Amino acid sequence: MVDLDLLAEKAEKELSLRFAALEKTAFENTKKVLASFKKHRVSEAHFAPTTGYGYDDRGREVIDAVYAEVFGAESALVRHNIVNGTHALATGLYGLLRPGDTLLSVTGRPYDTLEEVIGLTGVPGNGSLADYGVRYAQTDLKDGKPDFESIGRKLTKSVKVVFIQRSKGYLNRPTLSAENIGELTRFVKARSDAYVMVDNCYGEFTETIEPTALGADLMAGSLIKNPGGGMAECGGYLCGTKRAVELASYRLTTVGAGGEVGATVGQNKNILKGFFYAPHTVKEALKTAIFAAKIFEELGFEAEPSAHAPRYDIIQALRFGRPELLCAFCRGIQWGSPIDAFVTPEPYKMPGYQDEVIMAAGTFTAGASIELSADGPMRPPYTAYFQGGLTYESGKLGVLSAAKEVLALENQN
Ligand SMILES: *Cc1c(COP(=O)(O)O)cnc(C)c1O
Repeated sequence: MVDLDLLAEKAEKELSLRFAALEKTAFENTKKVLASFKKHRVSEAHFAPTTGYGYDDRGREVIDAVYAEVFGAESALVRHNIVNGTHALATGLYGLLRPGDTLLSVTGRPYDTLEEVIGLTGVPGNGSLADYGVRYAQTDLKDGKPDFESIGRKLTKSVKVVFIQRSKGYLNRPTLSAENIGELTRFVKARSDAYVMVDNCYGEFTETIEPTALGADLMAGSLIKNPGGGMAECGGYLCGTKRAVELASYRLTTVGAGGEVGATVGQNKNILKGFFYAPHTVKEALKTAIFAAKIFEELGFEAEPSAHAPRYDIIQALRFGRPELLCAFCRGIQWGSPIDAFVTPEPYKMPGYQDEVIMAAGTFTAGASIELSADGPMRPPYTAYFQGGLTYESGKLGVLSAAKEVLALENQN
């Protein structure tokens, strides 16, 4: 019989240097956030809700200013009414691209939900980029790295946007570091006038620098992931150069009005408080992910990334090999969550997915993946994708609950 408490204690001892490095990153990022709050004189008045047009919403303006500064960008557009990460990314793409332009993805196929936006799947006539005459080209990663030779060849005059996805998402590929993206950006900028746009989902605050500080023109993400710090109730952000953000803002609202309008109806405080917490929350999620990798590696399962590998996002993949074990893992995560811990998740058919999917999500905010959550498609090799954890203590308890379920099943056989 495996003694899980003992295993956990041993794992934490072995990970202590790793955890110390994460504390340092969170400290540096918190320092940056605090300095920016001070410089922009964030005050209680900024929490006041506006209604109607939302003209002169000082809270909205200060949120944009601190996001831009902390992420090393000229400008930002942070809004509760950007409904998710896909909406933020689509707003950026529609803002930058015009008929006849080419969108070149240089990290392989973009995240699933962008396929219909681009027009790779879905119903013609729905208004995808393809419907507007925007062409799409792609280079795949080669041995997990950008294929510079192929990118150089495809970087023709018609390429208006070079698209980089930082996180592996649900693909089997490495996540790019900010520096990897910086190198790619320099390569593109030396050869073309194209905008470099980054899908930064799950990457924020995992390092002390973001892709926009290294030259990317536009970057987007979700507030119910890293930068919302577990506090933002909803929303998304874009940041980058003044012009790129302006073009995105014209797409989000209307040409002319852009980011100058939009009532914040009481969301400013949560967004600011979440940004204040985010460096810390991301650290807690990273510690939880690394702890999970370590525990399940000790139990004989494959973890990607492995417990000792560098990390540039908060996603942890764990390979279970058998459907019952994937279900046991998700069950354990659910039973170790703060909300709906009494519920048992079952695999089900989801629209847009080929196979049945099982999900564990006992979260305060619906669908928030900065909170402890897991999901996996019911197909070989039965991989659980797992992320989040608002506090390391609760994340650790969730991971141990999952380990207990997996072990109980293994001991039966
Ligand atoms: C989460 C995510 C998105 C956006 O997903 P939403 O569910 O729309 O927020 C896009 N790209 C990547 C890599 C992601 O992880």
